[in-house]
Amino acid sequence: MNVVVLVKQVPDTGSERRLSGSDHALDRESTEAVLDEINERAVEEALRIRETHGGEVTIVCMGPGRATEAIRKALSMGADRAVYLCDEALRGSDAVQTAKALAHVVGTIESVDLVVAGDEATDGRIGAVPAMVAESLGWPQLTHARTVGIEGTTVTVEREADAGLMRLAASLPAVVSVAEKINEPRYPSFKGIMAAKKKPVQVLSLADAGIDASEVGLANGGSRVLESAPTPPKQAGQRVTDDGAGGVRLVEFLAGQKLV
Ligand SMILES: Cc1cc2nc3c(=O)[nH]c(=O)nc-3n(C[C@H](O)[C@H](O)[C@H](O)COP(=O)(O)OP(=O)(O)OC[C@H]3O[C@@H](n4cnc5c(N)ncnc54)[C@H](O)[C@@H]3O)c2cc1C
Repeated sequence: MNVVVLVKQVPDTGSERRLSGSDHALDRESTEAVLDEINERAVEEALRIRETHGGEVTIVCMGPGRATEAIRKALSMGADRAVYLCDEALRGSDAVQTAKALAHVVGTIESVDLVVAGDEATDGRIGAVPAMVAESLGWPQLTHARTVGIEGTTVTVEREADAGLMRLAASLPAVVSVAEKINEPRYPSFKGIMAAKKKPVQVLSLADAGIDASEVGLANGGSRVLESAPTPPKQAGQRVTDDGAGGVRLVEFLAGQKLV
């Protein structure tokens, strides 16, 4: 069972995140960057599948130079190798471009049975890249999984939806995106960290991956951020002292906010 895991390096949610002034792209240099937590869960799930079914786990990442730190973390958890798409022309790519580029990279890897991704990245929060990767590859997609099972050439997932729990099945190869409840990711061991330093990381340029530069990047995107402004500081709350009519004033307040 050869599993590819799509991982993304994202700004640490604890650090202040900014957009650059000129083109409103994410200012990645000014913040601490980490392997997205949902992607740690995706890596964990792939490792569990390998432990049961054998095969290899390959990390695929697209991002700027420092994304190698996120790749090393995934390798130190236990993944076997990585393919890293890194090219200045990718800067500012939107979700559609990102998904097409990732699908190209998956296409360069031999005998992939399953692609595992996070359901939503912490920074862009588009929540659509896995589905678009599946569309580009022409493979079935099972999204928002909280369990993943493999039986023969079939993958099954339990998907948590607003209306309840769905059980979905698809033929391999397929793309699965995982939700937060899927598992608790393991911590990299000291041995794992040392071993990761020697694991192969294949760096691909756009040309290596067979991607035309006119299909990616800020200038060629289908969506563009025209304007941005920092979130206004929080207003002080309104304190109501209960003098006997507190309940009524609370309901009036909620009604004024159109919350009841
Ligand atoms: C205002 C604004 C400015 C932006 N500026 C930039 C910018 O300058 N540079 C930039 O790179 N992005 C930028 N983005 C984000 C960019 O558009 C998205 O990050 C990207 O297109 C994918 O969307 P997402 O990460 O939200 O995907 P989601 O669909 O939320 O991601 C789900 C999963 O897909 C996989 N995935 C997503 N992206 C990658 C990746 N790169 N490599 C491997 N796996 C991946 C992961 O498994 C992830 O958990 C910006 C977004 C906004 C809103």
